[in-house]
Amino acid sequence: MSEPHPEYPHLLSPLQVGSVTLPNRVLMGSMHVGLEDDLGPLKKMGAYFARRAEGGVGLLVTGGIAPNIDGQAKPFAGKLTNRLEAWRHRYVTGPVHDAGGLIAMQILHTGRYAYHPLAVAPTAIKSPISMFKPRKLSGRGVERTIKAFVRCGRLAQQAGYDGVEVMGSEGYLINEFLVEKTNKRQDEWGGDYDKRMRLPVEIVRRMREEVGPDFIIIYRLSMLDLVKNGSSWEQIVALAKAIEAAGASIINTGIGWHEARVPTIATMVPRAAYTWVTARLKGEVSVPLVTSNRINMPTTAEEVLARGDADIISMARPLLADPDWVIKAQQGRTREINTCIACNQACLDHIFQNKRASCLVNPLACYETEVTIQPATTKKKVAVIGAGPAGLSAATTAAERGHHVDLFDGSDAIGGQFNMARRIPGKEEFDETIRYFTVRLETTGVHVHLNTRVSADDLIGKGYDEVIIATGVHPRRIDLPGIDHDKVLSYIDVLAGGAEVGKEVAIIGAGGIGFDVAEFLCHDPEHTSSSLDVDAYLDEWGVDRDMDAPGGLKKAEMPPPARSITMCQRRDGKLGRNLGKTTGWIHRASLKKRGVTMLGGVSYLKVDDVGLHVEVNGTPQVIACDHVVVCAGQIPARELEAPLRASGLSVHLIGGADEAAELDAKRAIDQGTRLAARL
Ligand code: FAD
Ligand code: NAP
Ligand code: SF4
Repeated sequence: MSEPHPEYPHLLSPLQVGSVTLPNRVLMGSMHVGLEDDLGPLKKMGAYFARRAEGGVGLLVTGGIAPNIDGQAKPFAGKLTNRLEAWRHRYVTGPVHDAGGLIAMQILHTGRYAYHPLAVAPTAIKSPISMFKPRKLSGRGVERTIKAFVRCGRLAQQAGYDGVEVMGSEGYLINEFLVEKTNKRQDEWGGDYDKRMRLPVEIVRRMREEVGPDFIIIYRLSMLDLVKNGSSWEQIVALAKAIEAAGASIINTGIGWHEARVPTIATMVPRAAYTWVTARLKGEVSVPLVTSNRINMPTTAEEVLARGDADIISMARPLLADPDWVIKAQQGRTREINTCIACNQACLDHIFQNKRASCLVNPLACYETEVTIQPATTKKKVAVIGAGPAGLSAATTAAERGHHVDLFDGSDAIGGQFNMARRIPGKEEFDETIRYFTVRLETTGVHVHLNTRVSADDLIGKGYDEVIIATGVHPRRIDLPGIDHDKVLSYIDVLAGGAEVGKEVAIIGAGGIGFDVAEFLCHDPEHTSSSLDVDAYLDEWGVDRDMDAPGGLKKAEMPPPARSITMCQRRDGKLGRNLGKTTGWIHRASLKKRGVTMLGGVSYLKVDDVGLHVEVNGTPQVIACDHVVVCAGQIPARELEAPLRASGLSVHLIGGADEAAELDAKRAIDQGTRLAARL
């Protein structure tokens, strides 16, 4: 037996599951990325998973694959129902095994969450998140569904998978059978809990008979529904025991139905905020337990396992962000990990927009066969101006390819606007991206020149083959009587300039930055942000650690807001409409809880000693306040472009310097990486 790892003895120790030895305790949790739905050979999905297997992940789990047409998430979503489809999955299992990995396929029947007219459910009750009302499954329909799950397990085995995960949580079909609010049946599949839990137990029992003893069956069990009248703790324990007896090899933790109004994985959720739920089940069953949700760094994972909360850590997004996460932990290179900041911007938000997932901090994710970083054939001298996300990604990618790179920034630190973003309560993870790039600048050998604001003359005639302008943006100045009043501050004064802000505040502009400034100003710096304190977070969102009520909800409680805030936008309607698909509602809910007034349809008239004078849908109104903070968008900072082009240099614009409208770090990093990959 090999020696325990000195830093991560639990995380990096092997685990025997039946006849299979997992090399470590890292499971890549199931996450839909859009590659599953390819109707041709699943080569891109194979390359994506093989890259994570090369990176040392103990056990990979695919995104959900439907066992039949009713169960598909949307028309043409990935399904496994016949031998031809099983053959296509060889394009996944083959490369993973060649890379030395193990892979299980998740079987997902979406039930009433399905986004198509064939949706089925235990009872014909529409979900709040799909426009399609499901059809009630008949008794024979339930039997057919069980057979479809079992067939899917057998086909997965034939396709070369090492196991399957039966998706029993998040409010999908199996979960719907378990809970009275979605299962009103009075036949052998409804009524008392023993009958409601028959569906998952029969699926696992019959599947085990079909696939034999060595095939891994993971069951994802909803241990905390976070919806009213969900499962009680006693029911959850009873189900876990029955699932183990039916033949599951591993039980994974599911937290929250998709319709729950509690954020469970976004960046404002503290790290490892839900491992206490898995810990409650320890000792009740003897199969290994997997815990999940907001575990993104090895130290956190090690603490969770050392505390005995679970046997295995599940992570999906952190392995999208860095396929070499495990190897870096093993080799003592934790500082080099490209940490998932839980923003959801390029992964879940893309999926909800029907686009392929990728990762804000790693634009190569899910594009393994399309964007590759190759050594440069001609070594060039490259200048990058601006060390924000765009400049950092360009500089490090170019240097990794062998170019000589000089990176200049006028400020005394790298990170650009991320230095403001990281100060927002709930965005502390943005610090990790700055740390990652700090280390990557060292490892790739970029020549960094801080406190160096460059002009065109500083660059002309210095032998640069390529100049990359990544100088970001200027805040938009608005034309308004009183705009130079002492009351008026910009978001930069507030977030970077340390301006003292009074108790009554009006905010002009309700884009991403307006929302963030409001969040910042609501918080009293004396209180630790709830994103860093699990108990404060659970109280704020009304999650009951004692799980007294079925579903685990309680009355929300939080400290009073530090300021009284009014946010304004000119557009009519809901504020924050352009915020992230999966996170916008959280930002809105958080500010509402803090009593922020949100005004749409506003015309700005003037600022004076009293405050901000406006018209709201034609009615004059004065927002009395101590300060008015302007968050009215941005314009590109590209003064260097014209003189550099005129000098004949080869000039490229990226990030905010290229286009400020709808700029975010996802676009900035993607643009920087792709440009440098082809220089
Ligand atoms: P910047 O980050 O603006 O960097 C430009 C750099 O160029 C600066 O460091 C500047 O000092 C330097 N520079 C400029 N001129 C010169 C010169 N002449 N010489 C030398 N150096 C120069 N995006 C998201 O995707 N998700 C979020 O959640 C998010 N939250 C945010 C929250 C806040 C409060 C703010 C302010 C921004 C947020 N953003 C977010 C936006 C994101 O930070 C920007 O889109 C991103 O930083 C743009 O990157 P960039 O490299 O183009 O420019
Ligand atoms: P933004 O999202 O474009 O919002 C600008 C706001 O200013 C809008 O509410 C706009 O609303 C208002 N505005 C524009 N011109 C104005 C004018 N002349 N007078 C008064 N109001 C005006 O820009 P941002 O908030 O500065 O954010 C910059 C970028 O950073 C965004 O593209 C965003 O994606 C990114 N960001 C993202 C996040 C995130 O959580 N994902 C967080 C922060 C920032 P009206 O025109 O309706 O008044
Ligand atoms: Fe994590 Fe954001 Fe990347 Fe998704 S896009 S994997 S949440 S860093």
